[in-house]
Amino acid sequence: MNNQVQAIKGAFFDLVNKCNDYCSVIDLNNELVKVLKRELAIGHVDFYSLSPQTNSFPFQMFLHNFQPGQAIWIQKDVLLPIYCHEDMCGVIELREFDSTISVDLDEVAKACSEFYTYYIHSFQLREKEQKYEKLYYLTEKFHSLMNKDDVLVALIETLQKMYQEYTFYLFLSHDNENKHHLPIKNLSFDDQDDEMAMEAFVTGKAQSIIHEQTKDMFFYSPLKGKQGVYGVLQVVIHFALNLDEQDRHFITLLTNAAGTAMENAQLYDQSKRLIKDLQLINETSHRLNKNLRLTDTMSYMSMRILESFQADEVGFFTKNSNDIHIFPGSTGYFESEEVKVYINYIQEKLEKDLEGLFLGDITSHLPGLPYSSVMAVPMVQSDVLKGCALVLHKNPYHFSFDMYKLLQSLIHHSTLALSNSLLREELETLVKTDQLTQLYSRNYMNSCIENSMNIDRQGTFVLIDIDNFKAINDNYGHQIGDEVLVQVANILKNNIRDHDIGARWGGEELAIYLPHVELDAGTAIAERIVKRVKENTLPTVTISCGVSHWKAEHERNYDELFRRADKALYAAKNLGKNQVIVQVS
Ligand code: GH3
Ligand code: MG
Ligand code: MG
Repeated sequence: MNNQVQAIKGAFFDLVNKCNDYCSVIDLNNELVKVLKRELAIGHVDFYSLSPQTNSFPFQMFLHNFQPGQAIWIQKDVLLPIYCHEDMCGVIELREFDSTISVDLDEVAKACSEFYTYYIHSFQLREKEQKYEKLYYLTEKFHSLMNKDDVLVALIETLQKMYQEYTFYLFLSHDNENKHHLPIKNLSFDDQDDEMAMEAFVTGKAQSIIHEQTKDMFFYSPLKGKQGVYGVLQVVIHFALNLDEQDRHFITLLTNAAGTAMENAQLYDQSKRLIKDLQLINETSHRLNKNLRLTDTMSYMSMRILESFQADEVGFFTKNSNDIHIFPGSTGYFESEEVKVYINYIQEKLEKDLEGLFLGDITSHLPGLPYSSVMAVPMVQSDVLKGCALVLHKNPYHFSFDMYKLLQSLIHHSTLALSNSLLREELETLVKTDQLTQLYSRNYMNSCIENSMNIDRQGTFVLIDIDNFKAINDNYGHQIGDEVLVQVANILKNNIRDHDIGARWGGEELAIYLPHVELDAGTAIAERIVKRVKENTLPTVTISCGVSHWKAEHERNYDELFRRADKALYAAKNLGKNQVIVQVS
């Protein structure tokens, strides 16, 4: 091997040691040219690349003459073909080469090709390394994002920066809000044009197609996580450009990383929501089990439902045949007549099956109603329908199916507490009500009088005894006796106001307590009742009344109040019955 070849190889070897300084193929070509000029001592050396993009390769006509490691003479010029492995990638032209120089030009061509191959290879390696470094950095970045949109923004921004010559779009299913002006297209089964996007979405595999007319290439890469596909990236490559296998692989890896990050963000959102849901159920059950009063229970439930579902109206009802009962705690709309349209519709469905009702737009069945979104969940305890919760919103499709599921669990967890409250309320009514007359019990009246004596300024008490009642029983039998007792009780109820208390004192003795009422007014009421009983009972009976009155200035003594009424009643009996006698102190 002659000296020049040796020197050229040595120069190349030096370059190899400084290899990281060259950042592009053009730099490399220039270095090659420089070495040849120096070592062969000639002025004109040029490098001509042979790449698909270059149309102006001047040695097109000699292409078939070239062989690896063989220099060609064209008159006074020498052409050195440069090969990278088996592929020719350029030609070095040594213009007006002095043929007296004794150098093995074939060896020079070989040395140049070896050097070139080494470098192209290391360029590619470095490029690959940089890309994967970027991929690593991006994957890390994706996973630090806890929001799906942010992941998409990072993906698109990166791709647009790395591949400025391509156009990118995202195919997402339509529940996307596109807050960040991303290039989003809707993924739809109906759209024929985007069959490939759908194919990539459904199969989770990248797809590509070349447009018949424009010859543009479309590459589709799914945003794939472990549990599903979250969208599809579309890359549009103009026909003059190329997307090689490596780029495809890189884009696929990047979209996979984005898909996994989106999945994580979604799971994070889901787990946050689940925790919130569990908190709601937990807090509500806890609270309901503490507080057993029906009104409080229902009001608390209403408040939590309004808040958690951003509902417009919430109510609880039961319906037996045509009788609708609205529970306390329901919102204002449940007092209206119109709400019955909803209740009747829902009840009819619930009677068929106890599943409940989730309607995005009830107005498509019942036009003209003000609330479109409806969720109805039955309250079932031991297979018995105890009532139903109804949640409404003006806008159609306001509630999601997840919300409905949450409402179901909430009602499910609360029904025991609700039916306990109901039971307690029933029991209380039972205890404070006399079964025969439906008047209050004596105990309940006593507690009312005590309470009134604590908070009011005055009140009137009337003790009532049916005259000669024994004779009614004797003449007509006990059953008629009972009926007469009920007749007298009803007359009592009809002659007092809502906050007055009518009670069965015991046997055929009744009583009324009139809070705030002065003695004269109380006496007048007693007299009116005496009159009405005589006129409106069958068989006719009369009653005698003893009236007593308390005033805060004088005394607040319950026993004393009762003693005076009893005394007055005794006097009424002695004075011939069918009359009212007012307290004598
Ligand atoms: P007076 O005018 O003095 O009150 O005469 P009276 O017959 O009402 O006398 P008394 O108070 O001694 O008798 C009350 C009777 O009322 C005795 C009892 O049989 C009857 N009685 C008490 N409770 C009931 C009831 O729940 N149903 C019926 N049918 N009778 C009752
Ligand atoms: Mg009596
Ligand atoms: Mg009597």
